[in-house]
Amino acid sequence: MTATCQRIVLASRPNGWVTTENFRLEHVPVPAPGPGQLLVRNHYLSLDPYMRGRMEEKGGYAEPQKLGETMIGGTVGVVEASNHAGFAVGDTVLGVLGWQEYALSDGTMLRKVDARSVPLQAWLGVLGMPGVTAWYGLNRICKPKAGETVLVSAASGAVGSVVGQLAKLAGCRAVGIAGGQEKCEYVVAELGFDACIDHRRHGDVKSMTRALREAAPNGIDGLFENVGGTCLDAALACMNPFGRIALCGLIAGYNGQDIAIHNARALLVSRLELTGFIISEHLDAWPPALADLVPAVAGGRIKYRESIADGLAAAPEAFIGLLQGRNFGKQLVRLT
Ligand code: NDP
Repeated sequence: MTATCQRIVLASRPNGWVTTENFRLEHVPVPAPGPGQLLVRNHYLSLDPYMRGRMEEKGGYAEPQKLGETMIGGTVGVVEASNHAGFAVGDTVLGVLGWQEYALSDGTMLRKVDARSVPLQAWLGVLGMPGVTAWYGLNRICKPKAGETVLVSAASGAVGSVVGQLAKLAGCRAVGIAGGQEKCEYVVAELGFDACIDHRRHGDVKSMTRALREAAPNGIDGLFENVGGTCLDAALACMNPFGRIALCGLIAGYNGQDIAIHNARALLVSRLELTGFIISEHLDAWPPALADLVPAVAGGRIKYRESIADGLAAAPEAFIGLLQGRNFGKQLVRLT
């Protein structure tokens, strides 16, 4: 009898908030590698906010996810069969093999990773795309100097948690914004930020601005923006002249909400530099970022936290939770 495995395809495009009906779980035969191919058993799937953009028919910076095809996603796993000279059975690999238990690869975009000094799944989070995103936006765009203040939104998450810890290592005051008391306490007590503001308690720009002025009494020099909306408008009001803004994400608007910038005047008056970036266009950043991040994580100077859903079938709910702030740290799905 042919062995089967599971995959999740995009069944329909969301209209506003994503629902579980937008996905379909399918059972398919475990594929056999052809010449030059290898078979990977995925151990962890990464769930990331960018997937929401791919579910749209158009309008993003990348090709949309096709209906009926396996959802895109970063994975780590183990090679189970190989006809590829560069990969052997037992190799641990990082790739973009999608929401599925098994995948064939010809080696493109597949990288061997060391799962001895750090847990395998760390290559999807703190040492993966989110960690490198944090490193790039902070160092190449916010360019913080010791003594300056850096603000980051979604501060307890995969990207934000690394931004604040790197800012602290650079000698800055690190201020976070996160949803709820538990996340804020974690950001300060565990990650070592100087302050963290609960956006649920400061839902309007006036209240958030007051809280930011208190948490950043010397003003904000570097803003790492992950959310947009109220957080961004309030932060703009607190920026010091010639401050730098790394526009990394606007998750407050990913399900169609209004994220217009109402405080555009601050950009002019404070002569701010605002730079949007997409990390997949900066492959040159990976070696220097990992040169900083790997020893810092192995040495415990950068901490991380994960929310792990169990089994592929749990991925749609976990993804919806990520978009609603139910994740606490890097959102992963365990597949073995
Ligand atoms: P996180 O682990 O931070 O999870 C997303 C978090 O966003 C939620 O936990 C929630 O945190 C917060 N959030 C969601 N909706 C809102 C809202 N309406 N208002 C305020 N906060 C909200 O995800 P990542 O670290 O993976 O990603 C963070 C950001 O970075 C995203 O915007 C993502 O798109 C962006 N990104 C951009 C990249 C690029 O190349 N430009 C690459 C990677 C990520 P809380 O409960 O604290 O509100």
